[in-house]
Amino acid sequence: MTENNANPESIIRDYPRLGPDDRFAFRCCQSLECFTSCCRDVSIVLTPYDIIRMKRALEIDSSSFLDKYTISPFTRDQKIPAVLLKMDPQTKSCPFVSSEKGCRIYANRPWACRMYPLGMAEPDNPTPEDRRFYFLLKEDNCLGHREGRSITVAEWIADQGIEEYEAYGAPFKELMLHPFWNGGETLQPEQIDMYHMACYDLDRFRRFVFETSFLRLFDIDEARIEAMRTDDLELSDFAMQWLKFSLFKEKSMKINRSVMESKLGTDAETGQRNDG
Ligand code: SF4
Ligand code: SF4
Repeated sequence: MTENNANPESIIRDYPRLGPDDRFAFRCCQSLECFTSCCRDVSIVLTPYDIIRMKRALEIDSSSFLDKYTISPFTRDQKIPAVLLKMDPQTKSCPFVSSEKGCRIYANRPWACRMYPLGMAEPDNPTPEDRRFYFLLKEDNCLGHREGRSITVAEWIADQGIEEYEAYGAPFKELMLHPFWNGGETLQPEQIDMYHMACYDLDRFRRFVFETSFLRLFDIDEARIEAMRTDDLELSDFAMQWLKFSLFKEKSMKINRSVMESKLGTDAETGQRNDG
């Protein structure tokens, strides 16, 4: 698999658009000469849910996963920090590919790997006539397009387990598409750290929530607090809610007024590290 590196404007303008019932012919299998060639020298952007799945599969915490397997390039023009899989500096291969068996974390491979050879795009201002669509990526080295099995887009999405990724990824997607990013504001270094921690470094975010005065600052349902201690999905959902509060100044969290007034722990609002 690979990630689409085509220019987003040309995709929106030029690529044939596919809907759920449109068909394409594709079959990827171990017997093809190109097997695993696509897991090399590619840019694979990871979502928070991708990282939850992959760190669990590897039985490591999020900080170790990020350190070992990812890069987070951040350029001056970039508004939102992103996390990408780190290719091996020598071989340029994905750290999870094996030449004999393919993807070593296949059951937990990221969204982008599942989608391939489909890409997905959405105009900046979608309308009922001009909205999210799928498109087919055809790369010369990929022999899967020569295999005759015809499948609809909807069948591919179901077959690859993509619906689950989209359902759990919805709060992050909402964050990414927030109008805040189109305004003139840029994130300060401590806000970038906060965003990175809440989105991607969930085990560090858990320490931040449970080992600082954070929980005393907000009214949060007790059952939810207990769930967040062990449930990554619940905690990730909460993290998105908190980012909307702390970055976008939305009323997504209920403040515990009495504690705020006694000036306890400004760390929770600023996102400063205080996790020991
Ligand atoms: S995660 Fe798996 S499918 Fe994706 S590039 Fe790496 S080896 Fe290939
Ligand atoms: S058919 Fe395409 S996706 Fe499958 S291994 Fe070959 S290059 Fe990769």
